[in-house]
Parts: sequence; structure tokens; C-alpha cells
Amino acid sequence: MAIISCPRCAKKISDKSQNCQHCQLDMTGMSAERKQHLAIEARDKKMQGVLNQSMLALILFLAGFCFLYFWALEPDGYEAVVSKGMIALGFLWYIYARARLIYLKRKN
Ligand SMILES: [Zn+2]
Repeated sequence: MAIISCPRCAKKISDKSQNCQHCQLDMTGMSAERKQHLAIEARDKKMQGVLNQSMLALILFLAGFCFLYFWALEPDGYEAVVSKGMIALGFLWYIYARARLIYLKRKN
């Protein structure tokens, strides 16, 4: 018995099982071509999701900057704290999403 990746959800399953216990994909009589097609679809969807996340992170980061310079006039006010939090969160989130994208690209 070997462990393979489910063509749809990419979770680990046995090559002997006819359906995935994670996403209930039925693989009875499924051709290798169809499995590959599903795997590519799942990968593209995942990468698109991560790409969208990195865009959201960038927007959060830039919004934080704008707030800090155009809205938070008091340097110790809560607006400044919120802005800095947005910048930090956006930055970390962006780095994390980019790292995940690189990892996904390398894996395939
Ligand atoms: Zn699955």
C-alpha cells in the first residue's frame, strides 16, 4: 500500500482507496488523465487564493501607511497604534503569502 495525494484536495490518502476520506472525491474508474486534470485545477485554485491573500496584505499595509501619514495626527493617539498595527500585520501577512507562493511553485 502506498500513500498518494488526493487529486482534488491534495491530502494524503491510500492508493488502494476508491474515494478520498477528506473531500469524498469518488475515484472509481477515474482515468489517470482525469486525476491529473483535477490535481492541476486544485493547485491553480490554491495558488490563486494565496495570490489574492498577498494582494489583500499589500492593501492592508498601504492603507496602514496612508492612515499613519494622513489621518493619525497625534503620534501617541490610538489611530497611530491602529495604523502601525495594520502596517506590521500587512507586512508579515504579505511575506507569509509570498513564501507560501514560492513553496507552492517549488513543490510543483
Ligand atoms: Zn480529497
